[in-house]
Amino acid sequence: MLAMDYRGPKRVRIENKPMPEILHPEDAIVRVTRSCICGSDLHLYNGNVPDTRVGTTFGHEFTGEVVEIGSEVTKLKIGDNVLVPFNIACGRCAFCKQELYGNCHEANPQATAAGGIFGYSHTTGGYHGGQAEYVRVPYANVGPTIIPEGMDLDDAVMLTDVVPTGYQAAEMGGIQKGDTVMVFGAGPVGIMAAKCSWLFGAGRVIIIDKIEYRLEFARNYAQCEAYNYEEIGDIAVFAKKTTDSLGADVCIDAVGAEATGNLMQSITGRKLLLQAGSATALHWAINCVKKGGIVSIVGVYGPTDNLVPIGNVLNKGITIRANQASVKRLLPRLMEHVQNGILDPKALITHRIPLEEVAEGYRMFANKLDECIKPVLIPPS
Ligand code: NAD
Ligand code: ZN
Repeated sequence: MLAMDYRGPKRVRIENKPMPEILHPEDAIVRVTRSCICGSDLHLYNGNVPDTRVGTTFGHEFTGEVVEIGSEVTKLKIGDNVLVPFNIACGRCAFCKQELYGNCHEANPQATAAGGIFGYSHTTGGYHGGQAEYVRVPYANVGPTIIPEGMDLDDAVMLTDVVPTGYQAAEMGGIQKGDTVMVFGAGPVGIMAAKCSWLFGAGRVIIIDKIEYRLEFARNYAQCEAYNYEEIGDIAVFAKKTTDSLGADVCIDAVGAEATGNLMQSITGRKLLLQAGSATALHWAINCVKKGGIVSIVGVYGPTDNLVPIGNVLNKGITIRANQASVKRLLPRLMEHVQNGILDPKALITHRIPLEEVAEGYRMFANKLDECIKPVLIPPS
């Protein structure tokens, strides 16, 4: 089968690989129908995630048709069309029982890392991902969710990550009615976080980036204010001036490690390369939020990144909340929001790329070319 193949930093290609097999009675094999490239894949692509092994297939946002099931799979049958949350979760460990599906212990027992994630290096379990014609889906009774009749596959694939992540970013912000929310990063995740902030009662939503076409897209799609950080001067001064002089009630970091320029440390403590510098968006979020406010982080950082200016956090009395999205927990309400038109995630998909052209897809998305917001790979049918 055709699959994306990681060869080293900024080098990916299409490859012929063996078909995935059922390795455990709870596995299913899925024929992929849509598979997105995510900002999270860029951390891998740039070589910033420890233990990303050559030969890995990326891809944690996909839909597909079930073509084979293990003997203990009871919730799926062959022919089902499913959307598959990016978290791989067992459904029975202490964390899954708390609906912390992004922190499943069984799918990835490493204590300092996230739970299992498809196609996201050996720090999240070493699973292959869905940027391929077929993929093995472990714990198939837990994650895969049948796509309702009539739901557009482009909407369905956005429910595997971008929608729940944007929604959880707003949710973790604890937004109160009338709050001013500042979102850093106008990628798909930040734009979705801005959109979802209104659902929690925000009174004002401001998004910050430097890419003009993304700011324009955010203005239209999320009906928010959008500013270019290269044009507004000192961002903390801007935040004060534009609010009641106290700062934003809630700040959301939807950028993550991209802004740091830092390479991450491996969770074993081995230093890969750490440049001087700070997590710009995270520091801005902490500087722009008012005293007593909440900073919600969904931007991805490395397991041992150590970038929080803790004195500032302490002195301002800020609450920081952060996690990988718990997709399965949020799916019921978000599927409803999509079905009744409250959310229209497929509008974020600007590019449809044949799987065979995956290398070009990465190059375009990484360099923010051709006004790309969200690219989806389409395997040959
Ligand atoms: P993306 O690369 O498309 O967008 C990131 C945006 O941030 C870009 O538009 C970039 O110009 C902007 N940016 C860079 N530095 C900035 C700064 N200092 N201030 C403001 N904007 C800045 O990525 P995406 O797909 O939108 O993902 C965003 C982040 O969310 C990534 O770190 C990704 O790994 C993470 N993510 C987390 C989860 C989760 O569950 N927590 C899920 C999906 C994605
Ligand atoms: Zn993703």
